[in-house]
Amino acid sequence: MATGRVIRAISGFFDVNDGEVTRRCRARGVFKKQGVTVLVGDIVEYEPMGSQEGVVVSVHPRSSELVRPPIANTDHALVVFSFVTPDLTPLMLDKTITSVLIAGVKPSIVFTKADLAEPSFVEAVSSLYRKCGFQTLAISAKQGEGVEQVRTLMQGRINVFAGPSGAGKSTLANAVAPGLKLQMGAVSEKIGRGRQTTRHVELFQLDHETWLADAPGFSQLQLSVPARELGTFFPEFQKVNCAYRGCSHLDEEGCAVRASVERGEIAQSRYDSYQQMYHEIREREENMY
Ligand code: GDP
Ligand code: ZN
Repeated sequence: MATGRVIRAISGFFDVNDGEVTRRCRARGVFKKQGVTVLVGDIVEYEPMGSQEGVVVSVHPRSSELVRPPIANTDHALVVFSFVTPDLTPLMLDKTITSVLIAGVKPSIVFTKADLAEPSFVEAVSSLYRKCGFQTLAISAKQGEGVEQVRTLMQGRINVFAGPSGAGKSTLANAVAPGLKLQMGAVSEKIGRGRQTTRHVELFQLDHETWLADAPGFSQLQLSVPARELGTFFPEFQKVNCAYRGCSHLDEEGCAVRASVERGEIAQSRYDSYQQMYHEIREREENMY
């Protein structure tokens, strides 16, 4: 028996890499009966057959699981947003960050196209997110500025990129891993005859312990938490220790989060995003009953 990581899934076969060799494996038949799925990113036990093939017999528990695209065990999301085009919308950015946190994945924020932005804007936006407690970089992938720092952040992790189309994900990925010709474009979905086909996902090895998924994760932002728990995914809210158990931070008397927003310590734009997301979740919750 051997252990390896699934790096590619192709029509019923799984390419499993043991650190050196990649074998084309099929999954043992009992899997389907048990409803067990094998995802790209999974650590699996397999029985080698010959020198290039094998049979997957079990899947290790996952630390995270993305639905679209389906990738297991991602532990780092590079949240890529541009300072200039497409427009930097705080709500979109905050939603992406929150979705990443809800999925149990650590985000780092990479602002791109710093070469096209006002230095004062670059500094204001970067420091706003740094103060929240996020690892934040302002880069210019075209000029190669900041690329080395991004590479350092990716080290030893299973990385996925997140962010809107046009933000510069492909440009950055190819600057980080020249020669791989990675395509981070939006996952294409064809809907025909009731079937959805999603562009296949593959993990590329950057070094012995570093992997990068070649498709953007979080292509659908799902805020899959109860509204009352949303605040726990805003790290700067946690720092002020609102004493109210289960406080919505919306209208409770004496809420420490609101007081902090009023003092200008928690950014108004982050609080606005929180409110917006809270109401979105409430609406969904109300429609469920
Ligand atoms: P993706 O859709 O997120 O993969 O975005 P792309 O990597 O395709 O980039 C979209 C456009 O932005 C392309 O025309 C890139 O050349 C441009 N771009 C990406 N990064 C930078 C940057 O750091 N500076 C400048 N000036 N342009 C960039
Ligand atoms: Zn509160």
